[in-house]
Order: sequence, then C-alpha cells, then structure tokens
Amino acid sequence: MRKIDLNDFQVATSETARDINRRIVLNLIRKHQPVSRAELSRQSGLQRSTVSAITEDLISERWVKEGALGFLPRGRKPVHLHINEERAGIIGINIRPSGTTLALAALDTRFLARDTMPTSDNPQAFLRELNRRISKLRKSHPQVNCEGIGIALPGRVDPKSGRLIFAPNLGWDAVDLKEPIERATGLPVQLENAANACALAELWSGRHDESVRNLVAVTVSEGIGVGLILNGQLISGASGLAGEFGHVTLDTDGPPCQCGNRGCWEVCGSNSAAVRYYAQAHSSGKTSRLASTLVFDDLLQLARRGDPKANAALDRMAHFLGAGLAMLVGGLAPDAIVVIGEVTGAWDSVGPIVERTLKERLGSRAVTPIIPSRPDLELRLRGTITLVLQKHFGAPSLG
Ligand SMILES: [Zn+2]
Repeated sequence: MRKIDLNDFQVATSETARDINRRIVLNLIRKHQPVSRAELSRQSGLQRSTVSAITEDLISERWVKEGALGFLPRGRKPVHLHINEERAGIIGINIRPSGTTLALAALDTRFLARDTMPTSDNPQAFLRELNRRISKLRKSHPQVNCEGIGIALPGRVDPKSGRLIFAPNLGWDAVDLKEPIERATGLPVQLENAANACALAELWSGRHDESVRNLVAVTVSEGIGVGLILNGQLISGASGLAGEFGHVTLDTDGPPCQCGNRGCWEVCGSNSAAVRYYAQAHSSGKTSRLASTLVFDDLLQLARRGDPKANAALDRMAHFLGAGLAMLVGGLAPDAIVVIGEVTGAWDSVGPIVERTLKERLGSRAVTPIIPSRPDLELRLRGTITLVLQKHFGAPSLG
C-alpha cells in the first residue's frame, strides 16, 4: 500500500483514467509489436472500442504506425501496430570527470551519431562548449526532429530546483545546467544522477523478468554511484540525495575523500582507488612517475598481461567493491544489482572476489544476483535516452 500524499495529490478524472490506459496500451505495443488491436484488447482487458480510440490518438500523434504484417485464416489481414521509431530523436549526454559523450538516438535507443568533448573544471565554459556541440549534432541529422535532452551526471540533482547539488568528483559548486541548455537549444532537458539513469535504463531494457521491481544500479568509475528502484519506483530521498552509498564510510582510518570524509566506499572501491593502490606499490624510482600518470584502462591492460602489482591493485579494489555491495544486499535485499563501468571488462577476476566478500559478510543472506553490465551496452549513455522516453512511456505521477 502506498500512502496518499495529502500535500501533493491529484484526484482521478476521466482524463487521468485515459492517460493511464493510453500509457498501458503504448507499453503493450512496445512489448508485443507488431500487435493487432484485438490482441491489445486481450492483453489489456480494455474494450475493443476503447483500444481503437486510444490507438487512433497514438497514430495521429505519430507515436504508433500501422502495418499489415500478419495473416488470419480465410485470407483476412489483421492490421498490426508498432512504435514509430522515426517519430523523433533524443539527445543523450553522459558527463564524467574524464570526458563527456553526446549522442543522438532514435526512439528505439539506437545511436545515430555521437561526439565526445573534455569536461572542463569551469561549468560556464563547459556549458558554452556543450551547447555548441549539441547544435553541431543536430545539424548532422537535420531530418531528425529532436524531442528532448537527457543528461546523466556524477552527482545528485535537486528534483525541485533542477540544480546540481552534490558532485564532489566534478568539483563544480551548485550549478543550474537545465535552464541554460533549455534556453540555448529550445528543447526540454531531463537531468539525473548517472546511477539513477542506469537503473531506469536497466528496467526499461527488458533484460529482467517483469517480476523484478527492486533493482539497484552501481556505477563504478572515478567514484561510485548508486541508483535505487524499489517497488518499481526510482527513489530520490530528501533533496534528491538518496543513493549516496559511495560516500558512506567503510574504513574510518581510510584515505581522505573529495567529499571531506575519510574512507568512503568510493575511495576504497572505485577505479581511482585501484589506480592509487597500484601507484602506492611503486612508491619510488622511475616507475612511480609512470604509475602517477596511469589511468584505469592502463591498469586493466597490465593486469591482463599478468603484471602482479596491477592484479594485486585490482584484487584490493574488488574486495572493497564487494564490501560495499554487501551493505546494499544486506540492507535492501533487492532482486538484482547491476554493476556498470570499465571494471566489468575484468569480471572474470573481479567477480569471484566480490562474491567471496559477499559470502563472508552475509553468509546465506547473500542471495541477490550481482550482474556485470556488458560494456558495449553503454548503459550510462542509454540511460540518458531513457530519461526522456519515460516521460511518455512511464507510469503517470499521481501523487
Ligand atoms: Zn566521500
């Protein structure tokens, strides 16, 4: 049972009912396409006339297209419906301290074009360059009518003001990204924490059983982000700060963190932590200079070639990654945890250490599957597209 919020509610009108039914039909078409109106009526339990009225609206708004794809006995041809992938394009922007990726995607989340740019320390300079790149991307596909922009950030966004409020790894103070981009592009902008966007994309991608309603996404990169979907709903918490497990202390004597604390999960179990462990193992001589310029991808390559110090650094990171995941499994008991980041490329060696740590800490309660996301799925970037799509396909907000 969900308690009704008496400060923010909307009574049901016939329009609310129509909106809910429309979203159900749109999602059924997406899932079962190509699908006939009769099948939609069976799947939804709605009357044929209601389904017909809804699909007429969806066709006139170009969300749905008709096509004769199936045959019935006695030569009758049913008209099948499918999502109109060409209706609009979506611009997705994945911001990381190490660089920013922009992409133009179709409604089926297929990427049509992409671009990359450095992430400046100065948010104003960054915004100017970003707006220039967005305009260039749109010009590269002038036939695509853009619907909106989704942005994934390594930080938390206040859902009320839309301002970025906590982003220790970017080093930006509270900044409004939404309004300047909307003003420059004329398109609506959806901003979200990268791990939240990944969690939504996972739910959206349909890789999981329909019964999966409690899903946690963990982004492992320069820091560690957590996105929580519980009972099918993204959890924002007070001021949008829910999910900051990356800044929960795991080791009170641990190294200082960008957030001002010590021994946070992310200073022990992120990519940056592994690189630091490796540099510490080369604390003197020529190799120490080498280690100080190394990035996580280099470390993965060294580990793959059998470098013992690189493997030791990766093992230590894996142990702390497991320790933090044990906190999530023990505290939330989700249906699944999806791990996103370069580290999944080394899951053959990292995964067993993570599993061992979970077993050590939780014993028989370590039942949640830990699923490494395939790097080629580019879940962070895909998540930015989902942010825009869920406006049309997600459940309506009823307070
Ligand atoms: Zn911290």
